[in-house]
Amino acid sequence: MTKSRYKALVCAECETSFDTNQLQSFCPNCKQPLVAIYDLRNPPLKFTDFSWSRDSMWYYREFLPILDEKNIITLGEGLTKIISLSKISKRLDLKHEFFMKDEGTNPTGSFKARGMSAAISKARELGVWHCCTPTAGNAGSALAAYCAKADMQSSIFMPQLTPEMFRFDCELMGARVVKVDGSIRDAGLEMQKQNLEMKAWDVSTMKEPFRLEGKKTMGYEIAAQFNYQLPDYIFYPTGGGTGLIGIWKAFEEMQEMGWLDEISTRMVAVQMTGCAPVVEAFEARADVSKGVEDPAPTAANGLRVPKAFGDKMILKAIYKSKGFAISVQENEMLAALNRTAREEGLFLSPEGAALIAAVEKCLSNGVIEKESRILIINTGTGYKYAENLW
Ligand SMILES: *Cc1c(COP(=O)(O)O)cnc(C)c1O
Repeated sequence: MTKSRYKALVCAECETSFDTNQLQSFCPNCKQPLVAIYDLRNPPLKFTDFSWSRDSMWYYREFLPILDEKNIITLGEGLTKIISLSKISKRLDLKHEFFMKDEGTNPTGSFKARGMSAAISKARELGVWHCCTPTAGNAGSALAAYCAKADMQSSIFMPQLTPEMFRFDCELMGARVVKVDGSIRDAGLEMQKQNLEMKAWDVSTMKEPFRLEGKKTMGYEIAAQFNYQLPDYIFYPTGGGTGLIGIWKAFEEMQEMGWLDEISTRMVAVQMTGCAPVVEAFEARADVSKGVEDPAPTAANGLRVPKAFGDKMILKAIYKSKGFAISVQENEMLAALNRTAREEGLFLSPEGAALIAAVEKCLSNGVIEKESRILIINTGTGYKYAENLW
């Protein structure tokens, strides 16, 4: 049995330590996320027997925060494949394969499964019985599924413009769903109001520390799948930023353990022009985003986040990696979604399609070179968005 190396929970800003045996959300002083720290002394040899017969992301449980394995709630999430977008690569005249990690094959159809598997497992370990979250869709589906498996109640708050499919599968799995006018910010405000009475455990993006840990496993998998020769660029569709921060955290942990000599990947945050707070902050070389007052509706629901709670950490990872942030227009994203379906036979999530549009833009204006090894993260399946796409 492999023991978790989890040892501390500290504020990302002031590094104050918090009791790991109690439920913790964010640092009450800094209003910044808490980050799990592991004892990485005497590390194991780097994982090279990356076998697809292993059942889930819990292959990496040594680097996840669950102390007692019997608390792990899994639906077989993670260990996703990397697909070669060979026809797009050829059309764009790329000198290497164009890689896509397909998170659309996760339970409930998105990489939110990784985060919720970790968060709900930890919540169970600490005695929670009712969880809540605001969501653009996928986080809600994942929360409903893991809570069902864990015999917990779930309450989910989603913007009115979310495709009905998401409400349907949440309710199918026993969740209570509330639809709210406005963006995910408004859904969050309504949830906080109701939660004064409901008293559910709030697993909002980055306000709960362990969804980050689940999403971090993408970074471990990418390193192994690339034989520890990381790609030059990772394009990531950035809403709350958990995946981007998580992949970067994994790389840093692996460097600390000597699994990676250097971290050569540049992290690229992609957003929609109608809601691009991270891009605006990056262009001003700011360390925090101002936030967007009136986020434009988009089919890429997961990117309609006017101000990410973890924005400082997103920007820090971008700067540290010498990466950048870029936005694409709705019509560019939709064109990429259509083209990718016809060319590659893949029905990407709109968020994933935005990455294809961003890569094409970066190649055409020379921001990245044709010789680059590029990896994009298709964060979800497009099938659940059909209602908003046809
Ligand atoms: C939630 C979501 C995103 C954004 O992820 P963050 O970690 O919040 O940045 C992107 N794509 C899809 C499909 C999502 O569900």
